[in-house]
Amino acid sequence: MNKKILYTDLAIYIFLAITLLIQTSCKSSDDSLNSSNKESKSFFAMDTYITLTAYGEDTDNGLKAAEDEINTLENLWSVTDENSEIYRINHSGGQAVEVSPQTAELLGFSLDMHERTEGAFDITLYPVLTAWGFTTDEYHVPDDEEISALLKNTGVQNISLDDRSVRIPDDMQIDLGAVGKGYAGDLVAQRLKSNGVSSALIDIGGNIQTVGVKPDGEKWTVGIRSPFGEGNFATLEIGECAVVTSGGYERYFVDDGKTYWHILDPKTGKPADSGLASVTVIGSEGKLCDALSTSLFVMGLDKSEKLWKESDDFEMIIVTSDGGIYITEGIENDFVINEELTDTKASVIRR
Ligand code: ADP
Ligand code: MG
Repeated sequence: MNKKILYTDLAIYIFLAITLLIQTSCKSSDDSLNSSNKESKSFFAMDTYITLTAYGEDTDNGLKAAEDEINTLENLWSVTDENSEIYRINHSGGQAVEVSPQTAELLGFSLDMHERTEGAFDITLYPVLTAWGFTTDEYHVPDDEEISALLKNTGVQNISLDDRSVRIPDDMQIDLGAVGKGYAGDLVAQRLKSNGVSSALIDIGGNIQTVGVKPDGEKWTVGIRSPFGEGNFATLEIGECAVVTSGGYERYFVDDGKTYWHILDPKTGKPADSGLASVTVIGSEGKLCDALSTSLFVMGLDKSEKLWKESDDFEMIIVTSDGGIYITEGIENDFVINEELTDTKASVIRR
């Protein structure tokens, strides 16, 4: 008798299990018909908020791999983590340090960008940034003597990079804050793709990078942040690319009525004062867009225009301190200023 009940129970269990199985498999095949399955992951890393959004059926592995990638890179590039490669370089006492391929690649790229921007991009400013308090949030205006003493130990010409071996002088400290998030975007995009994700939006503290186009085949619409207040002043339609903005509004302090921000002119050791409020760079490489957004902010409108004319790997949106908007011709048809700014027009820079 008991046995019979047991068999009946078993039959019911098997029936339920099979029904459940059919339901689950129906559900997943239903979902696969719906191409706009969306999954997001938000977390804090690299000193900023990160949101990864992937579309498609199988996004779990891609998103997990992408998050792991960011954490790995943060562990390599953090200036304050005693185990990071950058920390080891900065505390090497002038000795050569062996680094990972990713760090070697980013250092080599940063040295090239120093050349390409005629010195505006400089990864050796860390001690000067510290004197201003930008690395500790204990802001103060250093005097000219202190700045010129610190500037003596800057300059990328004293960095030697031989394959994966890096050597910097004892008194020098480097930081990849102006380029690391952009390169992380590139590597995360690669991770998502190699895990089968063909449509994704990567937002690393406002640095945007996309994989493919939207699941419906349309372009992505990204907002361009106003440097003068909250919210966006324009939108930009993009395919697969990176969009990176740098501006004085991102990190700053006010002393005696004057505003000081975190992007320094390597020549003066003081906040870059080139008449710009923000620079957005659009291109296929996140690391290039990130490095350029910082450097063009230092270089100002005329030099940025000159560099763009000599190049073919980026487009830009520049907002000047007096509210002028300049865009390059490659994005002319994809850039729209918000309706409420009726009298505002962008000047188009042409080759
Ligand atoms: P954010 O990282 O705030 O989005 P950026 O990409 O423009 O903005 O990077 C700014 C950071 O880069 C600063 O916080 C500082 O660490 C570093 N930095 C400041 N000035 C320069 C410069 N001229 N060249 C390279 N790095 C710089
Ligand atoms: Mg940058």
